[in-house]
Order: sequence, then structure tokens, then C-alpha cells
Amino acid sequence: MKELISSGLEALGLTGSVPPDAAEKLAEYGRLLLEKNQVMNLTAIRDEAGVARLHMLDCAALLPCTDFSQARTLLDVGTGAGFPGLPLKILLPQLDVTLLDSLNKRVDWLNEVSAQLELTGVRAIQGRAEERALDKSMRDSFDLVTARAVADLRLLAELCLPFVKVGGRFLAMKSVDSDQELDQAAHAIKLLGGRVRDVKDYAIPGTEVTHRLVIVEKVASTLKGYPRRWAKIQKAPL
Ligand code: SAM
Repeated sequence: MKELISSGLEALGLTGSVPPDAAEKLAEYGRLLLEKNQVMNLTAIRDEAGVARLHMLDCAALLPCTDFSQARTLLDVGTGAGFPGLPLKILLPQLDVTLLDSLNKRVDWLNEVSAQLELTGVRAIQGRAEERALDKSMRDSFDLVTARAVADLRLLAELCLPFVKVGGRFLAMKSVDSDQELDQAAHAIKLLGGRVRDVKDYAIPGTEVTHRLVIVEKVASTLKGYPRRWAKIQKAPL
């Protein structure tokens, strides 16, 4: 796994700008993921090459898509087994990373993995995004908020944008056939204080797969009253 990740980082032009032990730590994380996946449902990808490419390199490929250099804090909403938040922490150790998921078991495992990888400045917390975003200590607080495979962009914007500080960015990882999803989310993004700054399609090294990063800038505070309860978000999307 380490060799696949190393050559992928090189193909992305990241060698030299990420820590020298990044590929090793990502590979170790991948090994721990596959081991735990035998007893806990963490990922549908069950082979080392798949984990290296479709998890680790998919997340690493975000680095050339947007500027991470000024960001200090990152929240990963619906992190699951840690994607993309944990690979980003390994690649960009200066980031203070919070991993949020509604499932306690995944959160506990992520905290164990972070300790095993000797990472500091990262924590996994349990909670629902729409509830945590009402918490003053988390609202309008993060430089970057990421999400992959959590919800349709229209709903996801309501879960994620309230956490972003004005001037910060919400980074939504999507498939390349998300044009319609983007159009349908335009109203929600605007209402919640966001503005789409860029849409970047990127190739995952060593694969034929192209994915998309939607970069939304927070230009105004999110109005009080958002996010709404999950049932309402689903029943009456913005
Ligand atoms: N982001 C990871 C990835 O790309 O591999 C996990 C994706 S998994 C399909 C979706 C995760 O989002 C699950 O772990 C689920 O528990 C979490 N989730 C869904 N809705 C959520 C919410 N409202 N607040 C927090 N976590 C949520």
C-alpha cells in the first residue's frame, strides 16, 4: 500500500510538500481500516489497492484543487471511517482537525487510530451535524468544512455551511455527474451564506476515476434558524 500511495502522491505533485512519513502513515491507517473492517462495517472497499487509491489518494487529490495554506481548522462532517478528514490531517499536520459522525462506534475507532498513528491536534466527536451546528462553540467556527458521500448537496449545504466561518470554505466531494445536483443546491447555498467559488474535476492517480470538488466560500453568516431538524431538511429541502 505504501508504494501505491507514494507514487500517487508523486503523480499529484505533492512529494516534498507533505511530511516525509505521510505515505507510511496513510498505509498504516489503511491497514488498520481493513483489519477493523472485518468486524465493523467501515468500508465497502476490501482490498489494499482500492483503499490506497479510492480512499487515500482520492483525499490527497484535494490538495492541488484548493489552497490549504492559510487554513488552521477543519471539520469533517459525516466522516465515517475518517474520509477525507484523517488523510488530510496526515498530509497537512498543521491543521487542527475535528471528525464528526453520528455513529459512536466509528468515533471511538477513529480516536484509537489517531492515537496509534501518534497524531496530535485531531479528535473525533459523536453527534448529528444539524444539532452540533447550533452549538455556539462550533457555529461559524471552522476555516474549512469537508464532506464526502454524506448527502445530496442541497441537504449537505444546510448541514455544513453553518459551521464555516465567514471567509472560510465548504469543500464538498462529489461525482462528476453532479451538475444537476449543483443547480438544485444553488438556492440553498445562497440562503445559507455561501457562494460557489469553483468546481474542480480531478483524476485519482492510478485509476480511470474522475471525481469533483465543489468549493463554496462563506460570504455571510448563516441565518438563525438553520440548520433545521433533519426530518425538516429532508422533507422540505431549501
Ligand atoms: N465521509 C465518509 C467517506 O466518504 O467514506 C463516510 C461516508 S458514509 C456513506 C456517511 C457517514 O455520514 C456515516 O458514517 C453516517 O453515520 C454519517 N452521517 C450521516 N448523516 C449525518 C449527520 N446528520 N450528522 C453526522 N453524521 C452523519
